[in-house]
Amino acid sequence: MLPARPRVIAVANQKGGVGKTTTAINASTALAALGHSVMLVDLDPQGNASTGFGIDPADRAVTTYDVLTRGATLAEAAMTTEVPHLTVAPATMDLLSIDIELSTHSDRARRLRDAIATLARSDDSPAYIVIDCPPSLTMLTVNALAAAHAVLAPLQCEFFAMEGLSQLMRTISEVRDSVNPELVIHGIVMTMYDARNNLANQVVADVRSHLGDLVYETMIPRNVRLSEAPSYGKPALLYDLKCAGSQAYLRLVSELIDREERMAEGRTEQRMGA
Ligand code: ADP
Ligand code: MG
Repeated sequence: MLPARPRVIAVANQKGGVGKTTTAINASTALAALGHSVMLVDLDPQGNASTGFGIDPADRAVTTYDVLTRGATLAEAAMTTEVPHLTVAPATMDLLSIDIELSTHSDRARRLRDAIATLARSDDSPAYIVIDCPPSLTMLTVNALAAAHAVLAPLQCEFFAMEGLSQLMRTISEVRDSVNPELVIHGIVMTMYDARNNLANQVVADVRSHLGDLVYETMIPRNVRLSEAPSYGKPALLYDLKCAGSQAYLRLVSELIDREERMAEGRTEQRMGA
């Protein structure tokens, strides 16, 4: 069983450039803004989520690589940010060699899960962990899915959006069958939505008709402020709280918290035999 706290949400989709990192950064910030303590765990060798919080590569003393390979703790890796109640466990390019380094270890899929279990036992466990996954189905994504309660999958509003998703669904079901039977899909968030684009509207209608309630009401608009913010080392919510992108992430997170609460009620009912 995964510990009940922290709740662990993996932002995953093996397609690159669909808005995973933007979603991980801004959903984490929105959770913190709503008063929840959050640790963002950067599992992408590119380290864009770390950079997006203005964390200089030279300052990444203990990284997620150290957590996965040499038993460093997440508490040791956690770096504070400008956002109160939000820390980042940063990533570096070292993560590129993870599949090779872990290949001979039988616990290789469980390294992050074990690290989170250790953090969960400590006094300063956050309420949420958000994991930014790389655009591949390597041991890094498997570690994220093995450690997560739920997947948040960004889907870009474009023609081939659904294609990547079926691969993610397969991986999720493999992880469920092996290391993490509790894993659920939290929801799918449509990103880079442009209402003036007919194709985007068609894609949204198509995705909603296939996936129904799995798709969040909130769509993240294509918004230049969201793409500018990382170059200032700030989440969009700090860079420009009023912009359409920041506001959309706040709405997304309130939907996400609603789902969390409904899921928690479901678990209580299950325990009570309802
Ligand atoms: P991924 O992590 O899936 O590779 P990113 O979050 O890094 O995707 O996004 C890919 C690129 O698109 C980045 O340059 C990012 O700034 C930009 N981007 C992401 N979401 C939006 C959006 N809603 N509006 C405009 N640009 C976006
Ligand atoms: Mg990314």
